[in-house]
Amino acid sequence: MKVASGLVIAIDGTSGSGKSTLAKLTATSLSLAYLDTGAMYRCVGLKALEEALDLTDHDKLIEMARGLEIQVGDRVSVDGVDVTSEIRTPQVSQAASVVATVAGVREEMVSRQRSWIEANGPCVVEGRDIGSVVWPDAQLKVFLDASSEVRAKRRADQLGTHQEITGDELRARDLRDQGRRTSPLEKTADSVVIDTSQMALEDTLKRVITYLKERQLIELDQDQPDDESIDQPTQSTLTSLEGKRAKVEYRPPTKGSLVFFSVCRAIAVTICRIYCRVSVEGRKNLPESGPYIIAPVHRSYVDWIVLGLLTRRRIRFMAKDTLWSSRFIGWLLGALGTFPVHRASADRSALTMCVSILKEGEPCVLFPEGQRMTGPNVARVFDGASYVAAKAQVPIVPVGIGGSERVMQKGKILPRPYKVHIIVGTPIAPPANGKTGKVSRKAVKESSLVVQDSIQKLFDRAQRKVGL
Ligand code: C5P
Repeated sequence: MKVASGLVIAIDGTSGSGKSTLAKLTATSLSLAYLDTGAMYRCVGLKALEEALDLTDHDKLIEMARGLEIQVGDRVSVDGVDVTSEIRTPQVSQAASVVATVAGVREEMVSRQRSWIEANGPCVVEGRDIGSVVWPDAQLKVFLDASSEVRAKRRADQLGTHQEITGDELRARDLRDQGRRTSPLEKTADSVVIDTSQMALEDTLKRVITYLKERQLIELDQDQPDDESIDQPTQSTLTSLEGKRAKVEYRPPTKGSLVFFSVCRAIAVTICRIYCRVSVEGRKNLPESGPYIIAPVHRSYVDWIVLGLLTRRRIRFMAKDTLWSSRFIGWLLGALGTFPVHRASADRSALTMCVSILKEGEPCVLFPEGQRMTGPNVARVFDGASYVAAKAQVPIVPVGIGGSERVMQKGKILPRPYKVHIIVGTPIAPPANGKTGKVSRKAVKESSLVVQDSIQKLFDRAQRKVGL
């Protein structure tokens, strides 16, 4: 794909209209750099709170903002300290919105944002004043909006608070953004306005891609059709078995296997609940019946057990095939309904097995990162979960598990008694299939990005809940 040189896509809009998700998705889909300017104001707000500055003392705020070393990327840091989670609290949102009204603070941030754009080349920049002030020459200016109910609901989902609280907060922030003297939030005449109230993220992205193509700002490769179909896993993300291993076949659950699962689940869950004081938030997001894919972040073996707290139904897991090298463990896993997968990939047999399980109406767990990872960043997710969701046309339920790595890190045998918090997110609709009913590679890729974004947010929130 070719991208016009110096391409800048400005994405502005109201709080909670979906700017960040769309901007990140657009940048990842087109391999462009991405800047979240709101994170910069959040850093200033956070520092002002930490230093207990009077938010009406503009001179002090400007002086402090000028002296801050802010890095915004996958992680956000101020003066070398990682503040990725800290800047997302309601208190910091409020402070950011206040410091952003100070002309001198804005001048400083705008100047840094311009330098960033000059240094980074083709990019997506997200904020409130990108198309109007920061980069008026942006080749595509998108202004996003949504009804206040929808925006409040999205923010509440992100923060895990009540809709009324975030609704009030949003209204106050909107008024401040629109009413400030310096670069207020406004739609420029040359912006394309998208109301995302009733629009799925994938459709919003499609609109942006269409605008870019119409303006000849991007050019897709000849051999890269828009709606390319895949009917089987593809190269790097979905590796094939190459006929080396035995086929895994679906067998309907017997009464005995269901009872065995229930007993083991009850024992394991009770121990875990007491030992790790596990709490669950958003359980209502889990469909009560029917098939679905649970897509959790994966930091520890403990994740397998704590997921048992989500539902009494038998959920089917994939586990790395090497575990079957022990006869006893292999037998135990098989008896619990677990099936083998080739490590760090989603092999064809295992994926086919997942599709069969889901088509038979059972829920199943697919760790999108492919294996246990470490640290606060969700690794780039494999397409397996989205591919299987598309094949079986079932929803993906994103899940964040906070604190499990501290309980049992990679390489450790004994778990430690730390708290674990689980957050179940809003289900993600399966990727739409192509006209011929085949799975669309593009839709799968887009869905994977949505899954990644969603589990990162849930993970961040769950980690915060356990004090990490
Ligand atoms: O986008 P986000 O909610 O993270 O932004 C935090 C705050 O920073 C917003 O409430 C807004 O007041 C301010 N902001 C701004 N100009 C930008 C980006 C964000 O005033 N370009």
